[in-house]
Amino acid sequence: MNEEQQILEQYYESMGISRPVFRFCSQIEERLKERFAQIDAITECNQMKVLGAMRKNRLSEACFAPTTGYGYNDIGRETLEKIYADVFKTEDALVRPQITCGTHALALALMSQLRPGDELLSPVGKPYDTLEEVIGIRPSNGSLAEYGISYRQVDLLPDGGFDWDGIEAALNDKTRMVTIQRSKGYASRPTLSVERIGELITFIKERKPDVLCMVDNCYGEFVELTEPSEVGADLVVGSLIKNPGGGLAPIGGYLCGTKECIERAAYRLTSPGLGKEVGATLGVTSTLTQGLFLAPTVVKGALKGAIFAANIYETLGYTVIPDSRESRHDIIQEVEFHDPQLMTAFCEGIQAAAPVDSFVRPEPWDMPGYDSQVIMAAGAFVSGSSIELSADGPMKEPFAVYFQGGLTWEHAKYGIMMSLQKIYETGKVRLPETED
Ligand SMILES: *Cc1c(COP(=O)(O)O)cnc(C)c1O
Repeated sequence: MNEEQQILEQYYESMGISRPVFRFCSQIEERLKERFAQIDAITECNQMKVLGAMRKNRLSEACFAPTTGYGYNDIGRETLEKIYADVFKTEDALVRPQITCGTHALALALMSQLRPGDELLSPVGKPYDTLEEVIGIRPSNGSLAEYGISYRQVDLLPDGGFDWDGIEAALNDKTRMVTIQRSKGYASRPTLSVERIGELITFIKERKPDVLCMVDNCYGEFVELTEPSEVGADLVVGSLIKNPGGGLAPIGGYLCGTKECIERAAYRLTSPGLGKEVGATLGVTSTLTQGLFLAPTVVKGALKGAIFAANIYETLGYTVIPDSRESRHDIIQEVEFHDPQLMTAFCEGIQAAAPVDSFVRPEPWDMPGYDSQVIMAAGAFVSGSSIELSADGPMKEPFAVYFQGGLTWEHAKYGIMMSLQKIYETGKVRLPETED
């Protein structure tokens, strides 16, 4: 052990990590050098992409001045939207603090493009929970269903593949839009790679060229070298308190896409006749822009954390999705414990390692809309931000935690070591012998 490692071990010990846990985790980390180097290379490419867009669009100090009222001629807002369009390689973008969250951005994308009598198709199974009410799969005030917009769904095959025949059969004269969720979210299907999304869009457009393809890009931004907008998506949509906000954005959502799609979305977000011209930014543009600048690096830390955890818990015999070697297309990691005590211990560790609210103990509670208790761990600078290290899951079989985020690799690493420490302290888990 070299000097830095000895000092590190002392640090971790003073921060609650026992020697066996530290040594086991260090061995796992040692194995990941090559994998981490690949991630570093993707990060470097994405950093150049973002920096290049900022230089090309002549981002300047004047862009950071706050605007109020109507927000006409907000040069910072306009520049940031051009930067987003360049990063995602689209004709235009809508990036606004008035978009309150990811669900709002997705609802805006759907409601702005669809008209009464149109049909929406999901060829990748059930969409994210909150979209069920937007679409009207669960009856809800103001849903697409209330406006006479119908919905069809084709599930993925049991092996995670696309049901090509089912998709072909589902396309019809009314199909106006297709929604494709990249991340698995809280389902146990695989996350879709940008390449697979491209194959799906090509298949659909060959059969119905005028259909609009939207991708829910939540948790996927900057994980790969390309984004779904580069493989045919008309719209890509996400939340700024996830990947592209880089942990700094305090609010917001984005839509990047064709000029026509963005125009329709802007007229829906503000008002017919006003569109993109209004929307004061109240001084938030500098953090949205700086957040985008940091986003590739932040995603790098979160990805390394997810891979580190997959390797630790897989080595200890648990099922992890994605597994320790699989390629990554989003930042979410699932670990199945089949034991409520271990699941709770894991979340306690994530919470104890947080920079904010580290002294709080997470407890399972009856969250509205869920059929079992749910446990959540988060100690974030931005409330609800899930690019910051967080973990949660329903208290039922397979007692799986879903976790994601970490603004730095070092923090993600400490959080995961702390989760293992709490699990180790239950006495239910033995660690493999490690040498001194
Ligand atoms: C987080 C998420 C959403 C919704 O975003 P909120 O900001 O929580 O409303 C939608 N789809 C996916 C895949 C997500 O991960």
